[in-house]
Amino acid sequence: MGCSLDAAAASQAKAGVERPIAGAHVHVASFEALLRLQNEILEAVASGQPLADVAALLCRRVEALVPGALVSILTVDGDRRLHHLACPSLPMEFETAFNGLAVGPAVGSCGTAAHFAQEVEVVDIASDPLWAAYRDAVLPHGIVSCWSTPIVARDGRVVGTFAFYSRQRRGSDDQQRQIVQACVHLCAIAIEHDQIWSRNHRLAYYDVLTGLPNRSRFLEVLRICVAAAGTRTGLLLFDIDGLKATNDTLGHDAGDAVIVELARRLGDARMPGLAFRLGGDEFAVLVADCPNSRRLAAAAQRLLRLIAAPFVTDGQTLPLHVTVGSVLQGEDGDDADILCQNADLALEKAKRTHRGGFLKFREEFREISGARANAVRAVGNALREGRIVPYFQPVFDLATGEINGAEALARMVTPDGEVVQAKDFHQALSDPKITHDLTGQMLNEIAAEMRRWRDQGLPPLLFGLNVSTADIERGDLESRIVRIFSRYEVPLDLLVLEVTEKAMMDIDDTIVGHTINGLRARGVLLALDDFGTGFASLTHLTHFPVDVIKIDRSFVSAMLADSASAVVVETMIDIGRRLGMAVVAEGVETGKEAARLRTMRCTHAQGYLFARPAPAEVLRKKVADGVWKANLPPRPDHQIY
Ligand code: C2E
Ligand code: CA
Ligand code: CA
Repeated sequence: MGCSLDAAAASQAKAGVERPIAGAHVHVASFEALLRLQNEILEAVASGQPLADVAALLCRRVEALVPGALVSILTVDGDRRLHHLACPSLPMEFETAFNGLAVGPAVGSCGTAAHFAQEVEVVDIASDPLWAAYRDAVLPHGIVSCWSTPIVARDGRVVGTFAFYSRQRRGSDDQQRQIVQACVHLCAIAIEHDQIWSRNHRLAYYDVLTGLPNRSRFLEVLRICVAAAGTRTGLLLFDIDGLKATNDTLGHDAGDAVIVELARRLGDARMPGLAFRLGGDEFAVLVADCPNSRRLAAAAQRLLRLIAAPFVTDGQTLPLHVTVGSVLQGEDGDDADILCQNADLALEKAKRTHRGGFLKFREEFREISGARANAVRAVGNALREGRIVPYFQPVFDLATGEINGAEALARMVTPDGEVVQAKDFHQALSDPKITHDLTGQMLNEIAAEMRRWRDQGLPPLLFGLNVSTADIERGDLESRIVRIFSRYEVPLDLLVLEVTEKAMMDIDDTIVGHTINGLRARGVLLALDDFGTGFASLTHLTHFPVDVIKIDRSFVSAMLADSASAVVVETMIDIGRRLGMAVVAEGVETGKEAARLRTMRCTHAQGYLFARPAPAEVLRKKVADGVWKANLPPRPDHQIY
């Protein structure tokens, strides 16, 4: 059948070499017409017109060339199913009659031609068995014959069919054959061109892992939605919590599975909005036609509920938690760029304060973000220039008055020598890179101090290190600590990791468990910091093996004036004692507070009353001079400090 047209012929044709593709046996008038048709179609393909338009144009031109012919072009997909492409002169129901049908040995003229990759000529549809199941679609319209030719791509795949229908019972003639052969070549070019374009389009606009449209597509669709008159668009930005830790601790396949599952849930057709994967762990959902923020919040809550369902795959439960920031057109910006910026700010803020939840943009986030950016810059510079130093604040045994440990607190020394407290640059600590570098620096300093302590023959002391969410989420905290401590040859069982209750809440249990259990197995102690200020405090005490609880200063300072706070403090002390944990009261500033804590049987205290945080030399000298006597009870009798 000679259906293949090589690339050289195609380019010749495009370059305007005037030779009909199918040879020179056509009638002279038709010859010219065919040449014109061929050029017109190739031009339409080259100019990027949609395939359906090109096909419809071809049908109309051929029908003009062959009186009485009604032309139909179908495509055949990778699953060998037929799809309607163009048949401008055939009745409407014809379009649906073959759409989606699998090709086969008796599926009309076209399905059969595609099946055998051979032309099929049916002169009498009414009596031909190939048409037994389909004749009702055409006979009522007086169509009685159909001659179909497969369209074969360069690699031999049948990619479509080109058919002549007729209201007369007739077969094909030579001239028509020439035309049809030219047309199937043209169709093959047009369909292949379209397939290549679609593949490139997919690669450019769709995420390979999840199949969701990507960031480029997101920006296009957002712009279109925002420009639509009379409606508002809502944008929800999703970020997977702790994906890095999942990758690091459970492997990249687990991380990919989490991403794919989230894409599946966000893309669920029953869910509001259009989902996109913007990259990494970030997704977006566009809620078109969202009249108010209540509607947007409802959409976010629905999605959060769906995402909250446990994700079990291959018998293991993987952590799938997200945080959402949102904006609404009209309220939080009018153009696509501003909406994206503000959604980013809302998400950034949500990750710090509404982990696992949803937060809508507020104007003040912009200032917070500015202040935070300044803090990040300042601490970043200080880290690079060695201007971050630890101060140490001792922890005392309330019964004996002896020193048992010291908490390391980061201090930033400004270029003019001023020492800035951590609370004045804490905004920078939510930046994962800053936290990572700061923790590294503090760990080094603590290990170095432990080394000096040993070298000078001072009694052992516990050293506390504050770690943040990002440190644990990275998943490499254990290996970092082990590496640094072994470099200084100091024991891990003198280190107390201070993790806030909030950080415990924020991070997925699988990840926290992995890190905490690993470190505890090596002898590192765990303190639950700012106890009482988070949620589900008791739950965490039962889930995680905690050695120390640190009662937040807010309770301690309110305790004397407010009987409810006193009850809370007493209860926390009681819980600690029953669970065999040390209890440190933080921020003790007055003798009265200390006395009250002692009567409540609180085991330890820390605060300005006893000592302010100070450089390592101060602490070392006071212990060396015997001002503070250290007494560290041996372990493992749970008498920690
Ligand atoms: P925190 O862990 O609760 O640390 C205790 C804070 O209370 C310290 O503030 C300490 O200087 C202060 N403090 C101690 N005793 C008293 C007292 O009697 N009265 C009053 N008013 N305050 C007292 P600082 O150093 O500004 O640290 C603030 C927070 O910054 C810390 O709270 C901790 O969450 C964080 N932080 C400090 N150093 C580091 C660090 O190296 N890494 C990380 N990730 N966070 C740190
Ligand atoms: Ca602390
Ligand atoms: Ca604290």
